[in-house]
Parts: sequence; C-alpha cells; structure tokens
Amino acid sequence: MKYKRILLKLSGEALMGSRQYGIDPARLKEYASEIKQVVKEGVEVAIVIGGGNIFRGVAGASNGMDRVQGDYMGMLATVINSLALQSALEDEGIYTRLQTAIKMEAIAEPFIKRRAVRHLEKGRVVIFGAGTGNPYFTTDSAAVLRAIEINADVILKGTRVDGIYTADPEKDSTATKFERITFDDVMDKGLKVMDMTAFTLSQENNLPIIVFDMNKKGNLMKVVTGENVGTTVDVK
Ligand code: UDP
Repeated sequence: MKYKRILLKLSGEALMGSRQYGIDPARLKEYASEIKQVVKEGVEVAIVIGGGNIFRGVAGASNGMDRVQGDYMGMLATVINSLALQSALEDEGIYTRLQTAIKMEAIAEPFIKRRAVRHLEKGRVVIFGAGTGNPYFTTDSAAVLRAIEINADVILKGTRVDGIYTADPEKDSTATKFERITFDDVMDKGLKVMDMTAFTLSQENNLPIIVFDMNKKGNLMKVVTGENVGTTVDVK
C-alpha cells in the first residue's frame, strides 16, 4: 500500500447517483464496498462527505435566505449524508465512528483529534460530519483541515471526472488530462481543484491531493496502491 492513512473526500452530489436530489441507496452501497476493500487491506480511512445533494448555503442565500443560516443547514446536510454512509459501511461489517464539528451527542461523538486518531489506529473508519463547524467554509476545506490534523498521507478527492484536465472535459473535447501537476501550476493555469481556501491550506501543509473517479469500480484501491489513476497535485 502506498498510503497508510487517507482522507477520502466525497461530494454530496456524488451520492445522488442518477437522481436529482437526496441519496441513491445503490450508489451508497457501491461506495461502502469500495471503502471496505481498502479497509480490509489495513489502510486507515477517514472520510469527509459534502452536503450539496441536500442543501448549499449559497443556494439558500441566492433565494434571500440569511447566508449563515443557510450554511448551518448545509452543515446539517453533511451530517445526514454522514449517517447514511456510516450505516452503509456498517452493513458491510466495517466498524465506524462519526465525529461532528457541531456537537450532537445523541448521534455522534464531538470531533476530538486524539480520539479520531485512536479510532483509525484500531481500524475503524472515521467520518467527519458538519464540515468545519463554521459558515463560509466548504467541506473541501473541512477535508483538508481534518487531513492535516490527523496526519493523513494524502487527500483523495473522489469525483465524477477521472482527474484534472486542461479544460472542462464535459464541455471541451480537446481537453487533456494531467497525471501529475504542482500546486503552483494549478494556480498559474487557473485550474479548479478545490476552492481557494481549501487548496492553499493543502499547499501550505504539503498535503498532496489526488483527484480521481470514485464511480469506477476498483479505482479507490488502485489509488491507494499507488497505481496511476486520476491526477496527483503535489509540491513538485
Ligand atoms: N458548509 C459550511 N461550512 C463548512 C462546510 C460546509 O458552511 O465547513 C455548508 C455550506 O453551506 C455548503 C454546504 O455546507 O454549501 C454543503 O457543503 P459543500 O457545498 O462543501 O458540499 P459538496 O459540494 O461537497 O456536496
């Protein structure tokens, strides 16, 4: 295994599968089984999941809702997704813990770094819910923050596309994929990997990011074993 401890970031939208809203149980099950494979190989797995399939603060704000209020709704949406993923992982026989950035003790532990690390060492998958606990941030930022806190080797951003391209491959047929790219080049070329706050936090802490297609079976395992899947963003 190339990576011993990973932070997997999944977007909320990915959970929709072919639906327009909410959670597709089939997709959830697929993800759980992909994650199970790497856990069985002894990889320590932490997960941050977004909430975009349910609610986004900016979307609320554009409809006249208070932004901060909307962001808290978004954070709660990530907890709903986290609970769903936790349940799917447990169905696969994986031990899990959910820790949230906003205390909700009846359903999750509060985020405590040392405790999270202990769970990982014991082979439990730790899901971090409620983002950073602060409005105006994203779950990408939460993913990078938690990855740094728990000393993850890498952040794996599972998306619908199989890496970072010179242009949007869904719009431009001439777009080509990078296998590796530096943080500086991503900036210089104006490419979008994560929002700027998350991206610079990752860069400043030398935390590599791998963007890969999570919907392709076996890909997560390939990434973890060091196969050339997706695009790696690193310092050099
Ligand atoms: N959010 C927030 N602070 C955080 C993380 C998330 O306020 O630290 C809110 C924000 O409104 C965001 C929503 O939660 O729009 C859902 O998260 P995100 O958009 O990152 O989900 P994804 O795009 O990954 O599905």
